[in-house]
Amino acid sequence: MAEISIMKNIPEKVIIPLKQHNGTVCEPLVSKGDIVKVGQKIGECTSDICAAVHSSICGEVISIEDFPTPSGTKVMSVILKPTEVAECVDFTPRDATKEEELISIIKDAGIVENYGTPTHLVLRPGDGFNIDIVLINATASEWIWGDYKSPRDYALQILESLKLLMKASNASNGAIVLRNDNSEFISAFDGLVFDGKRLNVAPLVGKRRASYYFKDQQSDIVILSQDRIYGQNILNLFTYNVTGRHVPFNCNPASVGVAICSVQSAKAFYDVVHNGKPYIETVVSVSGKVNNPQKILVKIGTPFKDVIEACGGYKGEPGKLIANGAITGVAQYVDEVPVTKTTFSITVQDKSEVLRDEPLPCVHCARCVDVCPVNLIPARLATLADQGRFDECNQMYVNNCIECGRCAASCPSKIPILQLIRYAKVAIKKAYEDVPPKESSNLKLGCSCGSV
Ligand code: SF4
Ligand code: SF4
Repeated sequence: MAEISIMKNIPEKVIIPLKQHNGTVCEPLVSKGDIVKVGQKIGECTSDICAAVHSSICGEVISIEDFPTPSGTKVMSVILKPTEVAECVDFTPRDATKEEELISIIKDAGIVENYGTPTHLVLRPGDGFNIDIVLINATASEWIWGDYKSPRDYALQILESLKLLMKASNASNGAIVLRNDNSEFISAFDGLVFDGKRLNVAPLVGKRRASYYFKDQQSDIVILSQDRIYGQNILNLFTYNVTGRHVPFNCNPASVGVAICSVQSAKAFYDVVHNGKPYIETVVSVSGKVNNPQKILVKIGTPFKDVIEACGGYKGEPGKLIANGAITGVAQYVDEVPVTKTTFSITVQDKSEVLRDEPLPCVHCARCVDVCPVNLIPARLATLADQGRFDECNQMYVNNCIECGRCAASCPSKIPILQLIRYAKVAIKKAYEDVPPKESSNLKLGCSCGSV
């Protein structure tokens, strides 16, 4: 099993952003001078598109102020200074049998998917959406920290959590999707007996999708395996690969009845139901120019610089610090930004690795087109974005880009294609946000999934 170390030192300062998810900022429940305990709720949800936040340490609130986060924005955060004696709230297991209760446990524990959406919204996306299948995407996950004795024990906890997630969303089917080359995960799940049924890992090949195996194995829960798909916004492609359901343009998997959760959120859900522990710790993979690269369990709110110090410090002079992956992650201005619920990796590059060359003109080699997994024309999108022709980007389905970064990585002219595409996406989103609401003309507009 991949080893995960634990960061033992408590940093001098812990920064807990009141928004670590897509949605609204939480309302602070504490004030300057208050002493908070480990696990205490310090931010309450202000809307349904929100997830509560909890203190990961015992400490004194020294300020509540806007602070930079790994996403590149400033967010109102509770800054804590640890106290000498660490007190912890009583973690009591949550006993829930009804769907509504399970949803409220998830919301209250502040569980968030690694792509930013609060988990309760993934399971209950709102009126007009009916989730009938829950998928746990383990294709991009490593083993995570938790209280388990063996990989099999761990696998059973994830299966148990899948059952609860299905119950919370009222879905009749569920699947855990592993990666073909992850023999450790595959051997942990293959042949496992769960709910009196033996589960065998089944490969997603040709037309054999999840529905085939539900019938074949006569089970409402199956374990599948597929190749890894890179990228942060893979949800629609992942949905199609696993279920064969096409997600309409500008919609998400909920529009075809699919909820996608990560292994981390599934484990966090298991922990809150069985141990009462909210989402206050996460595993971060630290790589690149540090003295001791490793996977390390840290408290949410720990500044990057303290995580790097726990990994032996910088190796030489750092050139760039990147959160969540060298290809598609976000470069940081400072190393004081805190680890949040959606931080899964920190990469340090030295100066020689940091690209300083000016991009050259496009040579129309079409390498970017060849590698694009969703059949876009990245070179054209980059040109249009660069010229501010965002409507044309929209017409060329820029929002279908899953931000895998393959186009930019393969470009011989070093054109920052992904940055330009992201720029166009933000511009399109903002343009629509700025449009004032118009009186309805009673035309049936919108996409075939029923959303508007
Ligand atoms: S346009 Fe580039 S970043 Fe977007 S999906 Fe295609 S290859 Fe990936
Ligand atoms: S890979 Fe680069 S140079 Fe080649 S077509 Fe795409 S943008 Fe142009």
